Amino acid sequence: MRGKATKITLAILILTVICTIAISQDQPPRDKKTNGYYVHDDAEPKPEVVKPGEKVGQAPADAIVIFDGKDTKNLSDEAGNPTKWIINDEGALECTKKAGTVRTKQEFGSIQLHIEWATPEKVEGSGQGRGNSGVFLQGTYELQVLDCWNNPTYADGQAGAIYGQKAPLVNVSRAPGEWQTYDVIYHRPIFKDKTNEVVRPATITVLHNGVLVQDNWEIKGITYHKKTAEYKYHPDKMPLKLQDHNNAIRYRNIWVREIDDVPATK
Ligand code: MG
Repeated sequence: MRGKATKITLAILILTVICTIAISQDQPPRDKKTNGYYVHDDAEPKPEVVKPGEKVGQAPADAIVIFDGKDTKNLSDEAGNPTKWIINDEGALECTKKAGTVRTKQEFGSIQLHIEWATPEKVEGSGQGRGNSGVFLQGTYELQVLDCWNNPTYADGQAGAIYGQKAPLVNVSRAPGEWQTYDVIYHRPIFKDKTNEVVRPATITVLHNGVLVQDNWEIKGITYHKKTAEYKYHPDKMPLKLQDHNNAIRYRNIWVREIDDVPATK
């Protein structure tokens, strides 16, 4: 009897060891990820919960709403005075004659941006003179806005272009008067010791009407007209600006989310 009890005890012991090994194999592997946590590590902090907009394109709960059609309290002209852009009958922000640049009062570094725009339904002018505006990231780098529906112009000046630097990958423009969207991921440049030298250029990804037109493009510097781009030092945070190019361009549903970014390197 004693011999049989010993065998049963031994069997239980072996089973326990096998189970322990099996369970331990379910544990995360011992290799750590670059963030210091194991693969599938329960100790890794969970992402913050964010309530999305009811529909794609609507502001999520953590967005900074710049313009929602109600007022222009988050906007001003270049000098900080009330903007001359108006809220029209459809609740859109519309550029009026000699209204000048409109800027956000708040300043931003790297951002996710959603913005909707429409060129005039009545076609006037051609090329760069037809439905021209621009979204200036950090008030400096122009993502071109232009009526590019059957409107030939130079490639690096089309809608979705980084003006004077990079043509859009495709032309997905809607007809004049129709609302269009830009969804942008922008990372600001990082300057070396407040000089004009960048240790990391700005980058931009753009979806135009949901289609990729800029794929993590490395911005070459200030977007000039007929001049090669170059970087000039500016602070980490700058206003977002919209261009008055003498066309009655309209914008609506403008919101941003700030992106955590690495601090400037010395
Ligand atoms: Mg422009």
